[in-house]
Amino acid sequence: MAGQVRAVGGPVGRPSPAINDNPFDDVLEQVDRAARVLGLDPHEVELLKHPKRQVIVSLPVMMDDGFPRVFTGYRVLHDNTRGPGKGGLRYHPDVDLDEVKALAAWMSWKCALLDVAFGGAKGGITVTPSELSAGELERLTRRYAAEIFDLIGPEVDIPAPDVGTDARVMAWIMDTYSMKRGYTEPGVVTGKPLVLGGSLGREAATGRGLLVATREALHSVGRRVESARIAVQGFGNVGSNAARILAGAGATIVAISDVGGGVLRSDGLEIAALLRHRQEHGSIAGFPGSEPITNDELLTLDCDVLIPAALEGQLTEDNADRIRAALIVEGANGPTTVEADEILAARGIRVVPDIFANAGGVVVSYFEWVQDRYGYYWTEAEVNARLEEKMVAAYGRLMAALERFNLGHDLRTAAYTVAMERILEARRLRGLYA
Ligand code: NAD
Repeated sequence: MAGQVRAVGGPVGRPSPAINDNPFDDVLEQVDRAARVLGLDPHEVELLKHPKRQVIVSLPVMMDDGFPRVFTGYRVLHDNTRGPGKGGLRYHPDVDLDEVKALAAWMSWKCALLDVAFGGAKGGITVTPSELSAGELERLTRRYAAEIFDLIGPEVDIPAPDVGTDARVMAWIMDTYSMKRGYTEPGVVTGKPLVLGGSLGREAATGRGLLVATREALHSVGRRVESARIAVQGFGNVGSNAARILAGAGATIVAISDVGGGVLRSDGLEIAALLRHRQEHGSIAGFPGSEPITNDELLTLDCDVLIPAALEGQLTEDNADRIRAALIVEGANGPTTVEADEILAARGIRVVPDIFANAGGVVVSYFEWVQDRYGYYWTEAEVNARLEEKMVAAYGRLMAALERFNLGHDLRTAAYTVAMERILEARRLRGLYA
């Protein structure tokens, strides 16, 4: 997607009216659950529930019609005990402070679980990017970067692409930051274009990580990717790369949806042709040789693996009892509510949690940051091999925790115990600054 801002959002931004309004409540509940398993002191747990910093900025932007319009932007640094904050930047009409707080906390757990030397952060602007011209988007992005200039930097907090942003948006942030600093600083963002210090393999990294997560989780139940029938919700960076890479590994991708609609083909969709169709028509809807399906039908399809890779709050108490996939691998952040988690666990459906499953993006972002600091760049094969190594090691830690605490199918709590123990150990060693 480099060089082009994806159009996301629109009328189907969040399909179910029953989603949890506040994803940060889910974060607090997930933390409490893992804290009970770990037998933690409530005072220590309290420290994990408060983001270190939450910033809201007003962003006046001159629109193409000659009138200024004011947007609202956010940047939350949840934790930096183990390193600088790290987390994406989202452009979507539903962005608010609670969503950004939740996404920042999930980044803290993800970085700790994968053992990359970052804390957690996230940012967002409440905007429908498809309604803005390229010039308006650039002015909005540069104003945002200028407003949070003091809060970001390679040692402080490092943004990356998320829903509605891409390599071009990262290039504008890197340029604005560098102009204000007076020298070129590639390490201020990751997910940049290659010529500006991006990393080979970053664009597809989250999808590649999802292949490792799916493969390992299937192995644990005696199954193989090659015989898996997979449905994917979302066809942006995460969903499209996951579908392409999983299909390349031999899986049958039976259904995919994006904000414009869903497509089904029981003997497998051809992903390269689907990407071309989206390029030409703006959506995957109407793909020749496929049947149309609704978002609800896709989520409840009879298949082996469901990969929600769009937005949070998709699997809820309203549809969890109708899910027929044997395994859910979370491509999106927070797609499963706490209530849905309980229903799915009771039904014996394993959920491979976001903080592990979609961590490929932040792992390769970490590699990009390391390469920028080195000024020496790796081959794509090196990047992919190191990503594989990190993902497999984290899965081992996850399964060890599942066994150690006798957590049954509750991989999320297992993942949280690993991440929270690591962050708390670092905090104990550093002590409280007073
Ligand atoms: P994106 O903007 O590239 O794509 C989002 C996709 O979701 C689009 O295809 C859009 O049409 C679709 N979508 C939106 N609403 C939908 C709906 N109601 N039903 C079906 N599809 C819908 O975003 P992305 O970067 O692919 O991110 C997707 C998710 O993955 C987010 O939760 C994000 O936080 C998470 N994530 C992204 C990365 C990354 O590297 N980009 C890494 C880890 C996690």
